[in-house]
Amino acid sequence: MGIVGAGPAGLLLGHLLHLNGIDSVVVENHSREHVIDRVRAGVLEQGTVDLLRAMGVGAGLQRTGLRHEGLYVSFQGLRHRIDLADLTAGKAITVYGQNEVVRDLIESRTATARPLYFEADHVAVSALDSSTPVLRFQHSGTDHEVHCDFVAGCDGFRGICRPSIPDGVLTVYERVYPFGWIGILADAAPTSDELIYTYHDRGFALFSMRSPKVTRLYVQVPPEEPIENWSDEGIWNEILARMTTRDGWQPNVGHIIQKAVVPLRSFVAAPMRYGRLFLAGDAAHIVPPTGAKGLNLAASDVLVLARALKAFYERGRTEWLAEYSDVCLRRVWKAQRFSWWMTSTLHRFPDATPFDYQRQIADLDYLTSSRAAMTSLAEQYVGLPMEVSYESAGLHV
Ligand SMILES: Cc1cc2nc3c(=O)[nH]c(=O)nc-3n(C[C@H](O)[C@H](O)[C@H](O)COP(=O)(O)OP(=O)(O)OC[C@H]3O[C@@H](n4cnc5c(N)ncnc54)[C@H](O)[C@@H]3O)c2cc1C
Repeated sequence: MGIVGAGPAGLLLGHLLHLNGIDSVVVENHSREHVIDRVRAGVLEQGTVDLLRAMGVGAGLQRTGLRHEGLYVSFQGLRHRIDLADLTAGKAITVYGQNEVVRDLIESRTATARPLYFEADHVAVSALDSSTPVLRFQHSGTDHEVHCDFVAGCDGFRGICRPSIPDGVLTVYERVYPFGWIGILADAAPTSDELIYTYHDRGFALFSMRSPKVTRLYVQVPPEEPIENWSDEGIWNEILARMTTRDGWQPNVGHIIQKAVVPLRSFVAAPMRYGRLFLAGDAAHIVPPTGAKGLNLAASDVLVLARALKAFYERGRTEWLAEYSDVCLRRVWKAQRFSWWMTSTLHRFPDATPFDYQRQIADLDYLTSSRAAMTSLAEQYVGLPMEVSYESAGLHV
């Protein structure tokens, strides 16, 4: 198996295949440090946590992951708690940085001594509709050519695998939102044990954390806002203006360790397969981060793919390979819908009318006062059940 990309999708797939005795080559064009240091996701669904544990890569998660059994929705100066565990028969989310997930998986891969190339150049895939697709790359000045049974395109939204599919094969569904987020990491102890999603007249804000000493915060800004326009003081003023509640709750202010602007986009390319190339994770779909689904979808995609590959190698079965895209897309579209709904409900749109504002407030009022509405949010936030069992992918739970 040729795997392009050593993000969560590629590394998880490589390890799932290893556990089933299937050989793979993982090729990444950035350095190991770059891949680990990228600050991105932090919220893991219950099913992703269970998957990491079942794969034997859950030790770090067990040590430093922060299990959250609830979250807050804040508007008009009041925080309302949604009890995720109570509403979903004990399920929860875990805050554990993508950096840590990737670090753990790289360590596990290295321990298996299976090939993992960082800083690969000129990565290319070809002969995708043949029985032996080819993965080519250059590493430390040497040309490599791998003749594979299958290739997994786990190379993210801007990778080379999706563009290698001939024109006319894929249907692309896309929505670009008229705003982005500034995300910061701050050296400041979190003042809430759980995430707070805030809807404010000035725009959306999200309070999150990475550890007992580091707070992660986001604020809605215009799309493609240059980060240079925002001094640290300006960012804190905006965060405090939006997040401070009537009872005086607010985040601790501290040194900003890292800041960046993220665009918000919904994107799906279907089908997620062409010949012997399988797309997984951000290579096939992007969600706005409001619903915290991106990394989790990467994990569920590769579980479906690992099940299909195991059945192919052990019993020569191809039905699950044929079904791969349909099974993944059923989950992807539900996550798309949820992420779109969270985004639409919690952001100020530039063309919003006073009617839209009142409707959003009514939406939030309903959400936080109806057990049925809270249950709907909770079961999607902790993650809908996986269609594919861990056992079918060779894992013992
Ligand atoms: C600010 C932010 C916050 C987020 N918050 C959350 C959250 O709370 N919860 C959540 O679930 N998701 C979240 N996400 C989304 C999540 O980070 C992504 O969905 C996740 O990284 C997808 O994993 P992936 O492996 O599919 O892609 P990626 O992580 O993008 O990995 C792809 C890899 O392929 C490599 N690559 C690219 N091109 C090539 C090439 N030509 N050759 C070889 N390698 C290549 C890349 O360098 C990269 O390492 C967030 C994203 C952002 C930006």
